Formats: sequence, structure tokens, C-alpha cells
Amino acid sequence: AAPISLVLATGKLARRGIVLKEASALERLAQLDLIVLDKTGTLTEGKPAVTGVSALNGAPNTLLRLAAAAEERSQHPFADAIRESARRAGLVLPASSAHVAYPGKGIEAIVEGKSIVVGNAALAAERSWSIHRALHGFAEPKEKSGETVVYVFVDGVNTGAFALSDSVKRTSREAVEGLVDEGVHVLLATGDHPSAAAKAAALAGIDDVHASLLPEHKAALIRKLQGDGHVVAMAGDGWNDAPALAAADIGIAMGGGTEAALDAGDMTLLRSRLTGISEALLISRLTVRNIR
Ligand code: ADP
Ligand code: MG
Repeated sequence: AAPISLVLATGKLARRGIVLKEASALERLAQLDLIVLDKTGTLTEGKPAVTGVSALNGAPNTLLRLAAAAEERSQHPFADAIRESARRAGLVLPASSAHVAYPGKGIEAIVEGKSIVVGNAALAAERSWSIHRALHGFAEPKEKSGETVVYVFVDGVNTGAFALSDSVKRTSREAVEGLVDEGVHVLLATGDHPSAAAKAAALAGIDDVHASLLPEHKAALIRKLQGDGHVVAMAGDGWNDAPALAAADIGIAMGGGTEAALDAGDMTLLRSRLTGISEALLISRLTVRNIR
């Protein structure tokens, strides 16, 4: 059984909305010297909005209608944003079937008898599909300003793109500063493209950035850091973060995140506030010091 002081500390954290699966996780937390943060939904609000639509042939609403229908089953924040944009435009969505998710890349479904793919340039490259040259002028400035562009393909033909923007949580910078003050190195790991990653990292005060990572790359990064001798925490919200959360010494799931992330984590931040991590770290260090 865990020493009584660990149990008491666990209760103290729970009252702050920081829930530990096992009191013993506190001992590992006290040893923490490096943390990997996911971007979308962890460092950022995870409530992106569609900020631009570029349709190559036909009306933007035709593109939106097909993409939103194809995203019907996806739990990704981008899927929510695309569906919300269609709802606001008052669009009635057609039925979709055969939904497939490509973690870190996009989704595919059948809509009105056609294959609809919504995803990033990596997904297009994988299928040897080309992105229409007319979209470069749309994508480049958006990406430069830190937004993310995803492309729509109908039966393998690029028909347009969406730009999405997500804001960094108000508490993220303070949370990063708190961790650095405690001697913890902070690293950003994301499936998003390098400029969106760099923008979010700069706003949060993080200078170690790893972008364009697939879910299995995030887990491999954690294991490499552990191999270098670090005690590693990982904070994430998506089901794509689950392998990394499971690999980390301390997996920290955002309370608003997916069930897969909650299951894989050792600790949950009910209010999805990153400052909860440095609060938990301080409490764990005080508690463990008193045991020894
Ligand atoms: P993060 O690591 O920041 O949480 P993800 O791994 O979830 O990012 O996603 C990486 C990229 O994959 C996104 O930036 C987007 O380009 C693409 N993507 C993933 N899921 C979807 C989806 N449902 N619809 C469109 N694009 C998606
Ligand atoms: Mg995420």
C-alpha cells in the first residue's frame, strides 16, 4: 500500500481537478526532468475554426458539404470545426459510409458514391495525389501565419482546401514557465506542420519543437528520451496520443480529451489546464521529500 502521505497528496490534487490513477505515480512525477507536450488540444484550446475555404471548381459550400459529411465520425478537432462550419452555413449533409481514420494524416469516407478524403499533404503524397497548383497561393500565407491547411480529394482529385486556426490556451505560457522553473525541459511534439508548430511553441515559450510526427513517432520519441536517461512525462488529449501516453513514465491526459487518451494516462487534468502539471509536480516533490 502507498504511504499515507502519498494518499493525502492524491486527495489534495483531486480537489484541484488533478486525478491520479495510482498514488505511486506521484513518486515518478517527483523525478520528472522532461515533458513532451502535444499541440492540438493540449497546448492549444483544441477548438479550431475554419478561417478559409478555397474551392477549385464549384461553390465553397459544395466542398464544405462533402467534407463535413466525410468527417461525420471523426473525433479530431478539425472534424468538429469543419462540421460546425457546415452547420453555420445551414447545409444539410448527405449520408456517409465506410469511414476510415488515418492518424496524423486525415480521414476518408464514401459520400454519394465517391471517395472523399480530407487530409494533409503527407496523405496526398502517400497516394501520389497532387495538390492543385492553384491552391499554393491560398495555403502558403495561411501556413506562414501558423494556420493549418487540409486538402479535399474527390476520387483522388484535389477539389479544394480548408484553413484552420486554433488558439494557444491562456494558461499554457504560465504552465511552461512553471515547469522550466522546476528544472523540467519542455518539448513540443505535434502531427501538425512545422510553421503551425513553431507559432504555437513561440506563443507558449517553448524552444524545442518536433513537427510532422505520426502517432508512432511520438511514442518512439518518448522511448528515445527515456533511453537517454530522462524521466519523461507526456501530456496529450487525442487517441493519436495514446501510444505516447502509455510509453511515458507519466502519461497526462486532458480531461476534455478522448477516451483512449484518458485510458492510457496515469494522471488526468479535469479542467485541461496545463498549470495543473506544475502544481502536481510541486506537491509530489514536497510529499516525496517528506517520506524520505
Ligand atoms: P496533433 O499532434 O497536433 O494533435 P494530429 O496528429 O491529430 O495533430 O494531426 C496531424 C495532422 O493530420 C493535422 O494537422 C491534419 O493535417 C491531419 N488530420 C488528422 N486528422 C484529421 C481529420 N479528421 N481531418 C483533417 N485532417 C486531419
Ligand atoms: Mg492533440
